[in-house]
Amino acid sequence: MSLRLKFNLVLIVVFVLGIAGAAIYYDRYLEQYALDDVRYNSNVLMETALAVRGYTQDNIKPHLDPLNAQNFLPESVPAFAATEVVHRLRDRYLGYDYKEAVLDPSNPRDRATEWEARIIEQFRSGKAGKEITGFHGDGMSRTMFVARPIQVNNPACLACHSTPEAAPASMVKVYGAKNGFGWKLHDIIGMQIVQVPVFYPLEKARQTFVSFMISLLAIFAAMFVAMNVALSGFVISPMARLNRKLEDLATKDFLTDLVNRRRFFEQLEAAMAQARIGKLGLSVIMLDLDFFKRINDTFGHDSGDMVLKNAALRVRELLRSSDCAARFGGEEFVILLRETRIDAAAAMAEAVRAKIADAPFGDVGKVSASFGVAEWDHKEDGHAMISRADKALYVAKETGRNKVVRAEPAS
Ligand code: GH3
Ligand code: MG
Ligand code: MG
Repeated sequence: MSLRLKFNLVLIVVFVLGIAGAAIYYDRYLEQYALDDVRYNSNVLMETALAVRGYTQDNIKPHLDPLNAQNFLPESVPAFAATEVVHRLRDRYLGYDYKEAVLDPSNPRDRATEWEARIIEQFRSGKAGKEITGFHGDGMSRTMFVARPIQVNNPACLACHSTPEAAPASMVKVYGAKNGFGWKLHDIIGMQIVQVPVFYPLEKARQTFVSFMISLLAIFAAMFVAMNVALSGFVISPMARLNRKLEDLATKDFLTDLVNRRRFFEQLEAAMAQARIGKLGLSVIMLDLDFFKRINDTFGHDSGDMVLKNAALRVRELLRSSDCAARFGGEEFVILLRETRIDAAAAMAEAVRAKIADAPFGDVGKVSASFGVAEWDHKEDGHAMISRADKALYVAKETGRNKVVRAEPAS
């Protein structure tokens, strides 16, 4: 697995976990935030209704009561006033509502629906405490409601709601004698309920969530690209350059630009494996420059280096792409010839010998080399084959130099 792939996998895992974590957290957070807002609005609406109620009770009712005797004015009823005010508000804020839902009201518009009656029953059973909050309806008309019980704590209430006989005649005239009577002190006879729509706040929260996630994804995508560019620029490319340098250091001879002994043996092993499978010929040529010490001694070490470089160039000029030439040591070279029998190898050695012998070497003049050639017998190891070629090279040295000698067959 490449470094970039590993790095990107880690990045992707981190990003996916980060985005999933952020999505879960912000989805909940934004929904909660929207609902807290709705709850706050519900409470404000409830307190507004209560304020209107109190104002009507304390500041309006006392003025209207004398008139009520002749002609009952519903405006003097605190519940009526609060309901009317919120209804006006509702014209501008759709879905907002306030109701004093009563099980048996005088005014029929205050009668509790079945759903409201169930909440009132919870208050009456004493299990619900002082407030119930919940949701009602579906889709766009879904609302959050806050309900509080209406308890008859003021004995003055009973003046209108005990019996039709005790109630003001003007009121009975308006609402009749059937409903809104029989209330008792401390009875829970209904509830105040406010409703605030939740669809739009939740939709707004959802849209905020979507834009937030899109920007998060965009930031992560930009980071992904930037980190990959940085990875290439600061890590992968310098590392690749360094690796190439290390590879060269480990496998190349820097004076002649040929491969070194170590890389040569790797190539030889691979070539032998190939030759074994394909039953192919395989040969090596060992060559050693003649009287090289004398060149060094006469013309200096730098001239010696120049001769080594030029000799390597001559060798390389004759190589096929499948061949491999290495500097074996000092002024000694070795050439690996794939798919080559001894005759062709000897011919190649002869060509290299002639090329070196004919080449100009500047002030040094003529340079020659001696050659030993061996073909692999498909049994011996690489070192044994090299050793046979080396012995042949020794014979070439012993018998006059500047010549090619074939190795003895492997015993
Ligand atoms: P022969 O014909 O028998 O091979 O004789 P020769 O002088 O070539 O062989 P010998 O082994 O006596 O000397 C080889 C010399 O090569 C000795 C050493 O100083 C020199 N040499 C080895 N490596 C380098 C190198 O990298 N640069 C230079 N200039 N000389 C080198
Ligand atoms: Mg030599
Ligand atoms: Mg030598």
